Amino acid sequence: MTAFFAEHLKCGRQIKAQGLEEEEIKAGAEAINEQFKADLVFGFLFTAQTLINSIYQTAYTIFIAIFGSRMIRRGRMDSSGILTFQTYWSTQDRYLSEILTQYQNVKGTQGALEKVTDVLSYETEETGDANGPVCPEGNIVLENVSFGYPDGEEVLHDVNCTVPYGKSVAVIGANGSGKSTFFKLLLRLYEPDSGRIYIEGQTEQEDLHAWRSHFGYAAQNTALFSGTIKENILYSCGDLSDGELERLCAAVNLDEVLAEKENGLDEEAGEAGCRLSGGQQQRVAIARALAAKPGYLMLDEATSQLDFVNDRIIEENTRAQMEERSVIFIAHNIASARRADVIMLFDNGRLINMGTDSELMERCKLYREYVIISEGGSIDEEV
Ligand code: ADP
Repeated sequence: MTAFFAEHLKCGRQIKAQGLEEEEIKAGAEAINEQFKADLVFGFLFTAQTLINSIYQTAYTIFIAIFGSRMIRRGRMDSSGILTFQTYWSTQDRYLSEILTQYQNVKGTQGALEKVTDVLSYETEETGDANGPVCPEGNIVLENVSFGYPDGEEVLHDVNCTVPYGKSVAVIGANGSGKSTFFKLLLRLYEPDSGRIYIEGQTEQEDLHAWRSHFGYAAQNTALFSGTIKENILYSCGDLSDGELERLCAAVNLDEVLAEKENGLDEEAGEAGCRLSGGQQQRVAIARALAAKPGYLMLDEATSQLDFVNDRIIEENTRAQMEERSVIFIAHNIASARRADVIMLFDNGRLINMGTDSELMERCKLYREYVIISEGGSIDEEV
């Protein structure tokens, strides 16, 4: 029941917008009913235990009265023997009832314990030494990389490419074509099943800490934390001078947002950033990723909730902020992908083409189709 309400209360707006209140009320009542039934069973077992306990106590008193007095009459035990027997018996009785109570407690928390055990059974990631050697940034090379999620089918097949350093690289493709998975592999959130990923110039594979220290990451729904906007921005870098912070806010057009807030940068973002609009949250997330001055800025549809003017301005400013470093982004529109130095086109888990806009326009039919559709044309036309 707790899980049901925790999950569904968050989706209030979605439920209202889709007119699903009736169904949700029914599902909520069902969840309460389930809990009620479980509580009834628990109450029944508790009462049964109390009843059994008192029957047992009575039976035991009668037993001592009958057999104790008989043994005394027959001279096999004197009257103090009953007291000694009772003392021993009540000691073990206390332990017995303690065992029963603990058994009940264990059963009661078994559900929660199962989840905790499940989490504890996950393999611990070997992140390595935070102060380990950090290799120079350079082109990222993927050699024959294939990957499938645990217990699933292969979703990326034999990817070979060099992601150039210091460029803007757009990653495009249909839903489910493998773009986010490609990002996860670049961030080494997963390791490839076969093939390898390395930074050119590396003599040995860096440990995870060192590898990830090159990357900044912002996604469509990057969660912010409770705390001020400033604390959220500084989360990944510790501190910045006032001037740097100002420049950063200006780059992602946060300055205009902050001007409207009573406390400026010290305004509370709210739980998971709920006091900011989706677009404002995305700007804070990009500012946070930029603040750490990463070698590679990874943006996974990170400007999808911005209006088109802000989207364009932030795209340009972000590239300017990154100077000679890399911006690798999953593009939510073809127009911004076309402005990138290099475009990577994924289809069904394969990297089917990679090059500049004009190269892809010339040699890739699927890319031409994307461009035509994005411009409002029809792919029935000659492509
Ligand atoms: P895209 O970003 O292009 O929409 P994804 O990389 O998210 O595509 O997904 C590629 C494929 O991997 C899809 O078939 C998707 O269902 C599958 N997939 C994505 N994430 C997971 C996951 N965590 N577990 C299992 N399969 C996944």
